[in-house]
Amino acid sequence: MHGWRREHAGDLGLVPTMGYLHDGHLALVRRAREENSLVAVSIFVNPTQFGPNEDFERYPRDEERDLALLREAGVDAVYLPSPAAMYPPGYQTYVTVEDVSQRLEGERRPGHFRGVATIVLKLFNATSPTRAYFGRKDAQQLRVLQRMVQDLDLPVEIVPCDIVREADGLAMSSRNVYLSPEQRAAAPVLYRALQQARARFDGGERDAAKLRELVRSLIALEPLAEIDYISLADDRSLEEVEGIIEGPVLLSLVVRFGQTRLLDNIELG
Ligand code: AMP
Repeated sequence: MHGWRREHAGDLGLVPTMGYLHDGHLALVRRAREENSLVAVSIFVNPTQFGPNEDFERYPRDEERDLALLREAGVDAVYLPSPAAMYPPGYQTYVTVEDVSQRLEGERRPGHFRGVATIVLKLFNATSPTRAYFGRKDAQQLRVLQRMVQDLDLPVEIVPCDIVREADGLAMSSRNVYLSPEQRAAAPVLYRALQQARARFDGGERDAAKLRELVRSLIALEPLAEIDYISLADDRSLEEVEGIIEGPVLLSLVVRFGQTRLLDNIELG
């Protein structure tokens, strides 16, 4: 990839992914295409961001289909490193972004954001992008990476991209294939609950506990859904808001359907 980059001058937009591409990924690619003369997509299921009991082994993969989609989307380069190339024997260096990594997903998935920050920095070093595109779907990941870029003075612009949803509101995710037909039919409850909270917020509700409770009660109506957490937090620090909402906040949640954890969020204010 280093050699390719040396031979290709111009703005490069990088879209880091774990593959099994869907329209959410392709929206990032289209945005990168609009804003850069070159677009590269990386596909790497990064072992260091998975916990020992997580789905690294069974994470869905389909390299051939991904490459066909990316060819059709007109990307200039696809970076497909192997785990052994990324983490050769003796590997021992990791990036830790502190406070913003510790809450929410960081609390439930110890080491997850250390793996994410490390691999994203390695991808940046391998590709020297001008801009890098990340989905708002992974809201905490986005904030962790914005912090890393700022703190380490990385010469790349992080471009946040809106969540792409199925027609019924379910946020697209490679992991949606894990859902049974019954679970898939129930899953739009996440977005419906978030939208109702937005309506209440737009109507003037500023009590954080009441908004969290509204979301909780709507999701509790769905028997297949098991709430992992519902968070209403400061939009930047992700510190939980107690009492009255004053600035912009992130309303985020994780709900389990069987073994599958679904994430969703909206920004308010
Ligand atoms: P992943 O392959 O799941 O690691 O995702 C790669 C990138 O695509 C990340 O920046 C995600 O936030 C983004 N992404 C995944 N799903 C969506 C979606 N439904 N809408 C927008 N971006 C997404």
